[in-house]
Amino acid sequence: MTQLEVKVKDLLPIPELMAMRRVLCVQAHPDDAEVGAGATVAKLTRSGSEVVYLTVTDGGVGTEDASLAPSELARIRRREGEEAARLLGVSEMIWLDFPDGSSLDFTAVREKIIAAVRQVRPDLLMVMDPWLPYEAHSDHRTTGFAAAEALLLSGFPHVCPQHLKEGLAPHAPQAIAFYGSSRPNTFIDATSTWPLKLEAIAKHKSQFPPGNLEMVTAYLTAKAREHAAGRGFELAEAFKVLSPLHLHFFEDAWQC
Ligand SMILES: [Zn+2]
Repeated sequence: MTQLEVKVKDLLPIPELMAMRRVLCVQAHPDDAEVGAGATVAKLTRSGSEVVYLTVTDGGVGTEDASLAPSELARIRRREGEEAARLLGVSEMIWLDFPDGSSLDFTAVREKIIAAVRQVRPDLLMVMDPWLPYEAHSDHRTTGFAAAEALLLSGFPHVCPQHLKEGLAPHAPQAIAFYGSSRPNTFIDATSTWPLKLEAIAKHKSQFPPGNLEMVTAYLTAKAREHAAGRGFELAEAFKVLSPLHLHFFEDAWQC
């Protein structure tokens, strides 16, 4: 460990994910949070934390079936998402219903996330890591970057000042937890809630037909074993947890 790493950890400790009592879980599509963080969401709600989901797109293009209209698929996916979230103990779902897969408008998505932060007033944001190398899906990247910037800006009254007239006061969450990260710094023991995560993923029948579900389940479970190796438990979900200070002009954030 270098001298610099020691100092950075002392000056800017990594926030404690499981200590967060209110969580806003932002996802581009109705199944992202279950795949990336389902076991941790269930663990948080079981320990008394409140978790609210904010889903950015309607998920309407997630099919190879040309006869299934996007509006019909969006209805199916909303129902699947609600069933999955209920299993995990999620208390509220907010749907932004941006069209799926059509190049999201960053500023528009960021404004909606800031409004949700000011409404829900979470300690922690959770979202897919937009810095994941080779992530080709722009919905994932845009949603992740918008949530990261919302963490920085939601506490400033002159950002989206129209919210004040709508009764939404500024609010600054303490931290963000990125799932699907290639640089995780936090490993949550997911052993007790792993079956619940898999059950929640299976609710997304439109996205995971039987053969596909088995492959996804096998991969996620193998990955969870890898994340848990040497930590004294069997299965883990991995996150990159950062504070707002880590996310602003800070050269060492990638190795925190
Ligand atoms: Zn997705």
